[in-house]
Amino acid sequence: MQSVNKEYIIDITDMSSEGAGIGKIDGFAVFVPFALKGEKVRIIITKMLKNYAIGQLVEVISPSPYRIQPLCRFFYKCGGCDFQHADYRFELLYKTDKVKTALERIGSVKANVLPIIPAVAHENYRNKAKFAVSGGEIGFFKTKSHSIVPVDNCAIQNKITEDITAAIRNIERHISSAVAEVTVRIAENTGEVMICLTTDKKIPDAEKLIQTLCDLNKNIVSIVQIKKDSGKEVLLWGKRYITDKIGDLTFRISPKSFYQVNSKQTKILYDKIVKLSCFSGTERVFDLYCGIGTISLYISRYVREVTGVEIAGEAVKDAKINAKINEINNAFFYEGAAEHAVKSLGKADVVIIDPPRKGCDKSLLDTISEISPDKIIYVSCNPATLARDLKILSGYGFETKIVQPVDMFPRTAHVECVTLMSRVKE
Ligand code: SAH
Repeated sequence: MQSVNKEYIIDITDMSSEGAGIGKIDGFAVFVPFALKGEKVRIIITKMLKNYAIGQLVEVISPSPYRIQPLCRFFYKCGGCDFQHADYRFELLYKTDKVKTALERIGSVKANVLPIIPAVAHENYRNKAKFAVSGGEIGFFKTKSHSIVPVDNCAIQNKITEDITAAIRNIERHISSAVAEVTVRIAENTGEVMICLTTDKKIPDAEKLIQTLCDLNKNIVSIVQIKKDSGKEVLLWGKRYITDKIGDLTFRISPKSFYQVNSKQTKILYDKIVKLSCFSGTERVFDLYCGIGTISLYISRYVREVTGVEIAGEAVKDAKINAKINEINNAFFYEGAAEHAVKSLGKADVVIIDPPRKGCDKSLLDTISEISPDKIIYVSCNPATLARDLKILSGYGFETKIVQPVDMFPRTAHVECVTLMSRVKE
């Protein structure tokens, strides 16, 4: 019987969906963060649960050929990355495998899962960073805790965030401690920067903070305060949004609107959507969970018309403005929950869905079945809910043709997928 605080030597034979190594002691599974498949490791059991145990890595006895020195000195403390200690090739194999495993085990879906499309950049790729501020310190929360790791250079964030966090760290404590969270968003293809300060308090000497930030970086075009409880926005300086480009299209992004965090990979992802859809130009398309309308507007030139649905009012406003900015008049946007709004939209030839991690509401999948499109394109950031939903859709007569993983989140265990489903004709 395994027991807490006892040491064991085990072989890591598998990887969990969160990026931990998995080994067995007398057939009982042990999850070991920072261990890699193929390694022999010494561990100490830190927690026993009903079906598995958690082990802390004490020593790597025989390392994986993929093991590397983490690029980031905060890796073992900060909860942001899962794979700083593995060569990128390991991560790619892991991610393709993670998708296949989820589809087989959860979805019982037989699908053609293609090898993942690698990321162009593995470092400094993120265009959005959310830092916690407390007691004059700024950084990221330690895994599963509220203590701050004062990360002063993050391996995956845009380099611009380093100067901004340093400035906030150095400003008088009474100013910085009024702020609970600092979010930096960078429009990578135009250079524009937005800073959101989340707090319910009045920021003392706000002018000084604004001046410090604006002197630091001339690309800061927007500083907004977001009230923590109500979510209300107060413009402190500049404009209420930043503007970015994807391909030849321009997008306005408001503080709380969703925007893909990896700008270089976004174009690759959207091009894959276009390629898998094989549009002929005659289609009516639904883009459900459309955010600021990026996918709708990106595909609009290939289709007859596209209708986007999004729950966040601010994002829908952005989407409508984005259609105007780009002089696109075959894209229409509606505010509402996809599962409700889609009922009154009529028929579509192609339905694109890009839900958050929890996947689609079952009633939305029911309605899609009634709409009976020729194709469904399912964009997902969570293989487990993707698998669950593909299983439901396959019960409604849609066949999973291709699953294409795309690496949007290097150094983490997260993986994005574009899936093509076709309606099986009677
Ligand atoms: N397709 C967009 C956004 C994807 S993120 C892009 O590529 O940028 C998922 C979006 O779904 C978010 O904008 C979120 O606000 C929205 N959302 C969440 N629940 C929803 C629901 N029930 N109905 C419609 N939209 C929803």
